Amino acid sequence: MAFIADALGRIKPSPTIAVTSKAAELRAAGKDVIGLGAGEPDFDTIDYVKEAGIKAIRDGQTKYTAADGTPELKDAICQKFKRDNDLDYKRENISVNCGGKHTIFNALIATLNPGDEVIIPTPYWVSYPDMTLLAGGTPVFVEATIDTGFKITAAQLDAAITPKTKWIILNSPSNPSGAAYTYDEMKALTDVVLKHPHVWIFADDIYEHIIYDNFKFHTPAQVEPKLKDRTLTMNGVAKAYAMTGWRIGFAGGPVELINAMRKVQSQSTSNPCSISQVAAVAALTGPQGYLKERAAEFQKRRDMVVSMINDVPGLSCPTPEGAFYVYPSCAELIGKKTPDGKVIETDLDVSTYLLESVGVAVVHGEAFGLSPHFRISYATSEDVLKEACGRIKKACEALS
Ligand code: GLU
Repeated sequence: MAFIADALGRIKPSPTIAVTSKAAELRAAGKDVIGLGAGEPDFDTIDYVKEAGIKAIRDGQTKYTAADGTPELKDAICQKFKRDNDLDYKRENISVNCGGKHTIFNALIATLNPGDEVIIPTPYWVSYPDMTLLAGGTPVFVEATIDTGFKITAAQLDAAITPKTKWIILNSPSNPSGAAYTYDEMKALTDVVLKHPHVWIFADDIYEHIIYDNFKFHTPAQVEPKLKDRTLTMNGVAKAYAMTGWRIGFAGGPVELINAMRKVQSQSTSNPCSISQVAAVAALTGPQGYLKERAAEFQKRRDMVVSMINDVPGLSCPTPEGAFYVYPSCAELIGKKTPDGKVIETDLDVSTYLLESVGVAVVHGEAFGLSPHFRISYATSEDVLKEACGRIKKACEALS
């Protein structure tokens, strides 16, 4: 339709949101559907954080705030960066946004000119390429595969950098693969960026606290302090603190970039929700012990899902270091026939078949730029996961 902007023709609706909505729709229509689509913890926001939000309403903290966050929340974020990442930021280095997704969006809108390139390792989180395209930039994909543990190498990164490169997006632990870079692996990447003074790092650290087997998390600006003035270190309360609906994401970075992001935000949302900001202060400054307990719970689920999926004929599932996703290969299912005679040609066919035949919603790998795979979010109870993996097995066994 001529009325809609050309830029919209370059992007698609978010596939993770689409799968989640489809599963909800089917359930509302009375179908027995297990949703393993959404990357959303099943844990509840902890009580004292909820209480802080309720108190904020009662106290009348219901007005506009400073465009990119209250001073109290910025201070809490500075403390968080010091405590968890040994990074020194001041208030002026902090931007608070309506969810991590919004932080990425603001940063790309604030920095990309037509033709600017953004290096995105595959498999990637679904929204990086589309946000890049919407901002007028060009995504440049660097392919990691199951054989490289879903991680790119320094040589691959070096080869992808051109004079037009503006950003490299690093997401460790990764959505969708759960892969996380060790200190040495991250250092190899930051060494490459160091050689190219025009390239900035966008560090999406949203899964920082969801790591397993004593894995040590490292963010790029911590690994290479010389890159701190060209790194945007992004995080948020959604995944770690089970606060997806509150919509608070944030980033620490150089003042000039933070100011540019504030300009974008002042012309769009004005400010993140005042009540959510108060709750985020409580989350970031309150006791942090339960984050480890929840990660331990996720680890049990990861182990169960990895073992059950590896027991399914035609699927092969590596063990990820973090996040709450597994990204099994379904290469051996391609070419097989469903009981009603349809040939499975793509990973979209696999996810459609799983949904239609056994009511399990997963996200097809093509959405994350690496096929044939699909993503399972195991941020749900062990009982539900057991039932879901059993159904996946049944469906795959029925293929011929
Ligand atoms: N990040 C989550 C996911 O990948 C939430 C949905 C979204 O925004 O993509 O499922």
